[in-house]
Amino acid sequence: FTLPDLPYDYNALEPHIDEQTMKVHHDKHHQSYVDKLNKAVEGIDLGNKTIQEVLSSINELPQDKQTPIINNGGGHANHSFFWEILSPNSNKQPTGNLAEAINKTFQSFDNFKEEFSNSAITKFGSGWAWLVINKNKELEITTTSNQDSPLSEGNTPILTIDLWEHAYYLKYQNRRPEYIEAFFNVINGEKAEDLFNKAN
Ligand code: MN
Repeated sequence: FTLPDLPYDYNALEPHIDEQTMKVHHDKHHQSYVDKLNKAVEGIDLGNKTIQEVLSSINELPQDKQTPIINNGGGHANHSFFWEILSPNSNKQPTGNLAEAINKTFQSFDNFKEEFSNSAITKFGSGWAWLVINKNKELEITTTSNQDSPLSEGNTPILTIDLWEHAYYLKYQNRRPEYIEAFFNVINGEKAEDLFNKAN
């Protein structure tokens, strides 16, 4: 497994997410998950499975290997997804079919944003808040702890925010709600709609 390049410059998400945070987050934290994942899978035959496929079928792995792969494979998959769902050219809202589905499920984008933000603000400790398509093919706001992946619960991720302090502490310190507000200025709504369309 290898660290993917960021799809934009380190400073491209300024002022909402700062360059220093992006450098440390991508080059150090994400790299470290990749390195530890590669160690964790030594001696295991994964065939040609992607990390997403590995996490979706985690129970097929030997029990004593699951935890380090959930933690570091989840770290790799979650961060790879996070970089893609952010954009310097954000339209700040999902578009098209996804926008319609959000209105249907959450009444309005503003309502969705408030519910998603509340889940993210109140998530205790380290983890992630997600908009997913669940097993019933419905949009749902969920959270995962640590580096657990929604894929392991059978959910398909559409949008996410990293709630680990390393994602915001340099710029926002303890002000997680400000970071969450800023996140909505850099979401890649077109990518989210793309994922939504593929999952339906
Ligand atoms: Mn992170």
